[in-house]
Amino acid sequence: MECSFCPRKCKVNRADKEGFCRVKGLTVARVGIHEWEEPCISGTHGSGTIFFSGCNMRCVFCQNDAISRTNYGREISTETLGKLMLYQQNTGAENINLVSPTQFVGQIAETLEKYKSQIKIPIVYNSNGYESVEQLRRLSGLVDVYLPDLKYADNSLAVEYSSAPHYFEVAAAAIAEMKRQRPKNVFVNGMLRRGVIVRHLVLPGNLANSRRVLDYLASFDRNIYVSLMAQYFPTKDVKAHPLLGKTLTQDEYDEICSYFKQCGLHNGYFQELSSNSESYVPDWSIDRLDKVLSEI
Ligand code: SF4
Repeated sequence: MECSFCPRKCKVNRADKEGFCRVKGLTVARVGIHEWEEPCISGTHGSGTIFFSGCNMRCVFCQNDAISRTNYGREISTETLGKLMLYQQNTGAENINLVSPTQFVGQIAETLEKYKSQIKIPIVYNSNGYESVEQLRRLSGLVDVYLPDLKYADNSLAVEYSSAPHYFEVAAAAIAEMKRQRPKNVFVNGMLRRGVIVRHLVLPGNLANSRRVLDYLASFDRNIYVSLMAQYFPTKDVKAHPLLGKTLTQDEYDEICSYFKQCGLHNGYFQELSSNSESYVPDWSIDRLDKVLSEI
């Protein structure tokens, strides 16, 4: 199969060669409960995350670089992925949260087609937004909640920071398709059962980009739910970068939160600046993953 799971369309045969995303077969890096998503995603019992390895973007500041830049993890079958979803459901997780799923969209669609009828909690598709509309259509009716990023409205930043040409047009089209599939956010007891929340990580020294992102979202749909994230911290790779080497200041974050309201958006989530700490990065221990795999 020549891979065109994402807009890069590398056309490599993933059975024997990696593409830009650096992974071949379906590979997971972590399965666990995550308590620090938006309150309507984490709830009281936590979100049942399944982190996939590799990534189709190369963000210089990536906070999950331990798993996104390599094929770190374990290669599994679609049947095992289905069992992992049921495992998360049995642990009492609020939902099944597929994190960084784009490079495996085909296997995920295949798994959900087989297992969706046994899953009673929402399926969350948690992605960087650099998605193919054609591939997203395969998930129609299978994914309940979309959590895409809209990282950049400025494509020159998307290239410089994430090696992602035409990011804005690609992600805007992906978000439009997600909204087509899940036009209304449906909450039950405060938890999101169906819908879309767009995430935007505010980067230090790049407020003009954040304002353009919010302007676009307000013009697209002023009722859209937006999660403004403050959890940026400089990793070792960007410590020397003149802008990305700094942490976000409270003034910078407050300015973007005010702009959110000024441009007419009114449904959103905000973060404490204290979330910008390496201590919130999940534990990627392979032993932990192997233990889960041995239990399913
Ligand atoms: S999923 Fe990976 S191999 Fe496939 S097109 Fe995207 S970057 Fe290339």
